[in-house]
Amino acid sequence: MTKKAFRIIGGIIILFNLWLIGHYQLTGIMILLLTFGVALLFEFVLVKQFASDSLGAQQKVSGGLIKYFGLQQWYETVFDDEQKHRLEERFGTVSGNKLASGAINSKSLDVDVLQFFYDLEQKLKPKVYSDVLQLVDERYKLEAGKFCRIDEDRWNNEKYYKVWFTFMNYRVKALNRLKSDNYFTQGQLDPIDDNYITQPCLDIKNKHFNIINGDLDRAFSKHFSEPIKGCRCSVRGYRKR
Ligand SMILES: [Zn+2]
Repeated sequence: MTKKAFRIIGGIIILFNLWLIGHYQLTGIMILLLTFGVALLFEFVLVKQFASDSLGAQQKVSGGLIKYFGLQQWYETVFDDEQKHRLEERFGTVSGNKLASGAINSKSLDVDVLQFFYDLEQKLKPKVYSDVLQLVDERYKLEAGKFCRIDEDRWNNEKYYKVWFTFMNYRVKALNRLKSDNYFTQGQLDPIDDNYITQPCLDIKNKHFNIINGDLDRAFSKHFSEPIKGCRCSVRGYRKR
């Protein structure tokens, strides 16, 4: 159940209790218990413990990250046993999660499949893993290709090309949050302005886009249609006064 569902149930119970208070003409501590007591119980105990959208929720997936990301078939067919062994040994445990065994726990899995592949590749840099790395890279490229057409030359040679894809999960989430919560009216794309920044990101710096009429959406699609050299832009909203 979600937090919202818990709160609605809590609200119904309190309404019922208000009726009880009126009907039986209850007083003093009973009123407090039946109203604030219920509210506090729901908010600070039940929502925290059981709401499925709360942080730290356990994912009941055994078979490690490979299964979590739906990569079992790929994993089973692409690697031989010896390669799997080396891969699992090298990957070890990340935030309590193993590559191909055990249950998946919590927060680290705000991560998407692209971030997962990027991290995995970082661990496979040593030359002894080059055969495994190549196979991982093929699949990473395939997943990244769901965002845009992959430029092979840039994929293999440009420092920020692959990194760009690992930011997309955060960017899309940030954009969706801004669009859904009705609090922010304006948004902008914030570049990291350092030695690696290039003109397209400088051009967008400090530009403000209306969220309600879709301007931010359009600016987002345009700026993130494919990797820009050095782009590590993030998405931020604010409220116009
Ligand atoms: Zn940018």
